[in-house]
Amino acid sequence: MPGNLVGIHSGVWGGDWSSSGAADAVARSAAAGFDLIEISAPALDPDPTNASASETARLLGEHRIAGVVSLALGADEDINTEDVGRSDRGERRLAATVAYAADLGADFIGGVLFSKMARYDHPPTARARANSIAVLRRTAELAAREGITLGIEYVNRYESNLLNTAAQTIAFIEDLGADNVVLHLDTFHAHVEEPDQRNAVLVAGPRLGYVHASESHRGELGTGSIDWTGLFRELARTGYAGPITVETFSNAVVSAAQAVDIGLWRTLWSDPVALASRSHAFIRSHLAAAEAGLQPAPR
Ligand code: MN
Repeated sequence: MPGNLVGIHSGVWGGDWSSSGAADAVARSAAAGFDLIEISAPALDPDPTNASASETARLLGEHRIAGVVSLALGADEDINTEDVGRSDRGERRLAATVAYAADLGADFIGGVLFSKMARYDHPPTARARANSIAVLRRTAELAAREGITLGIEYVNRYESNLLNTAAQTIAFIEDLGADNVVLHLDTFHAHVEEPDQRNAVLVAGPRLGYVHASESHRGELGTGSIDWTGLFRELARTGYAGPITVETFSNAVVSAAQAVDIGLWRTLWSDPVALASRSHAFIRSHLAAAEAGLQPAPR
C-alpha cells in the first residue's frame, strides 16, 4: 500500500473559510477519505469573520486530517521585483503565512511563493530573481524554526515569468540553499511547459516534496489529456513518498471574484461531493496500480 497522503484543495468546497464553511470543508474532505486538506493562507489583512488558525486546528484534530497551507502572491506583494514596497509586502505576507501555518499545526506551505501569479509584461531579470531568492531564504529560516517546509510551485508562462519548468525551479532552489525548500509540482503547469510528466518528476528528483494533481483543463481528474499513468509510474519508480493533492476549481462553487482570479470561464463540474469522492478513488487507484507495476509479476 503506497504511503503517500492523498489531499484535497479546500477550493473544491468553494474556499469559504467562515466558521461554518471551514467546518463543512474539513468534515467533507475527511468523509471522502482524504488524509489532508490544503488551506489557503489568509490575506495580509485577514477577513475577521473567517475561522481562526486555532479554530481550524481544532477541526483538523476532530476529523483526524492533516492540514497544509498554500498561497499565490498577488501583484501588490510580488517579490520577483526590484520594487522595494511590493517586495516588503510580499515578505510580510510570507512571514504571516509561516505564523498562520505554525498556529494551524501545518508543516508545509506550498504554492507560488516566488512571484506574483499573473502574466508579466517583461522578461525575468537577474535582480528580481535575486530579490525573490533573498526574501525566500529569510522566509525559509523563519519556517525552519517552526519545522515547516516551503514548496516552490512553478507555473506556466502566463502565470509567472520566473519559474516555468522543473529545471528552472531546481536551479532556483539550489541557489536559495535551504534544506527546508522543496519543489512543488503541479501537473497542469507541467503539462503546458514540460516534454512530459515523467520528465518533470525525473528532473525534480529527491527535491520533489508536494504534488498537485490537476487536469489539463483544471476540471475533473481523468477527463483531460494529462498522462496520469506515466506520472504515477514515475512517482512510484523514484520512490516519491510525499502528498498528492487534487486541485480543481469550478465556477459553480467559488465566488465570482475567485472565478475571475483563476480564469474559470466555464463550468467543468458542479457537484463537489461527487467530485471529491471520484478524485480520491482516482488517485488511490493510480497509486496502487503504479505500486503493483513495480512488483515482480505473480507466477
Ligand atoms: Mn497548483
